[in-house]
Amino acid sequence: MTTGTTTVVATAPGGPEVLAVRTVPALRPGPGEVVVDVAAAGVNFIDTYRRSGVYPMTYPGVLGSEGAGTVTAVGDGVETVRPGDRVAWCDAPDSYASQVLLPAERAVPVPDDVDLLTAAALPLQGLTAHYLVTSTFAVGPGQDVLVHAGAGGVGLLLTQLAVRRGARVITTVSTSDKADLSRAAGAHDVVLYTELDDLTRDLPAVVRGLTDDRGVHVAYDSVGKDTFDASLASVRTRGTLVLFGGSSGQVPPFDLQRLNAAGSLAVARPSLAHHVATREELLSRSDDLFRAVSDGTLHVRVGATYPLADAARAHEALESRRTTGKVLLVP
Ligand code: NDP
Repeated sequence: MTTGTTTVVATAPGGPEVLAVRTVPALRPGPGEVVVDVAAAGVNFIDTYRRSGVYPMTYPGVLGSEGAGTVTAVGDGVETVRPGDRVAWCDAPDSYASQVLLPAERAVPVPDDVDLLTAAALPLQGLTAHYLVTSTFAVGPGQDVLVHAGAGGVGLLLTQLAVRRGARVITTVSTSDKADLSRAAGAHDVVLYTELDDLTRDLPAVVRGLTDDRGVHVAYDSVGKDTFDASLASVRTRGTLVLFGGSSGQVPPFDLQRLNAAGSLAVARPSLAHHVATREELLSRSDDLFRAVSDGTLHVRVGATYPLADAARAHEALESRRTTGKVLLVP
């Protein structure tokens, strides 16, 4: 019998030191809701944006939006899951916790052959990688693709999915260990962008050198401020730059006329929420991912696991570029 729920809250906007453990009463499901015992909660860059105040949240507030675990109670009218079912989620608030309350329609059943740590590591970054290569830009055979932060959580999955679709993938990473991981995920060429004298000038030259001077069909840029100009100059005529994050900082306002001068380029700035808004789309994308994990064609790397109470250390590691793949918190 659960007597209380352990949570990690951001007490005020700030650095990792604002995170604190709080115990709240055990959760009870309302109509259409389920309570889940959390096996692991995912740490994502967006949690750091919320904690620091880059994205709005109410303080004190529990962080986290992703995880996997076992359903312990269901509210009236819930027919899609039952107590004992294993589920994962990517868009429920307050997930840095030992228990979460989810709308039943956001709980995704986890197949029997996928363990709960893998299931917790996949939803947010996996679904992001999935929509980026299928919907934002439909990556196809023979295309050249640039992926920044290739050894990161999204980066490793995005690389594998783009390679599976027949693309030739060029990644950027900051260290030789990360380069090894990126190559193991299928990257054909890996650029240590921290070793370039001038990223904005030199990266496009390297990318063009690898693509017969044409540039890539699509650049996926989650690093943002430091890489945006280099990404733009690495895309071929009529290609697409997909900006989907700002790990180095947000990109400042941008003159659209530059897209004309650079070669009739398109820029997209997509968000996961708009690509899993219906249960049908959430389940269909999740099904693709879980099937790929089950048949061994998608490897999910859990790079680090921390006790829930050590969430601040997890944030420090993520923000100082020391992590690879997924970072999980275990209650
Ligand atoms: P990652 O595991 O990719 O970690 C971030 C990586 O960015 C670092 O490991 C580092 O890789 C690189 N980086 C480059 N410059 C910096 C810097 N100044 N500070 C910190 N990191 C830097 O994180 P996630 O996979 O969780 O997320 C990746 C990005 O994707 C984030 O920006 C996130 O906001 C975004 N995102 C967007 C979504 C959307 O739908 N729009 C959904 C999910 C994530 P290296 O050391 O190799 O440079």
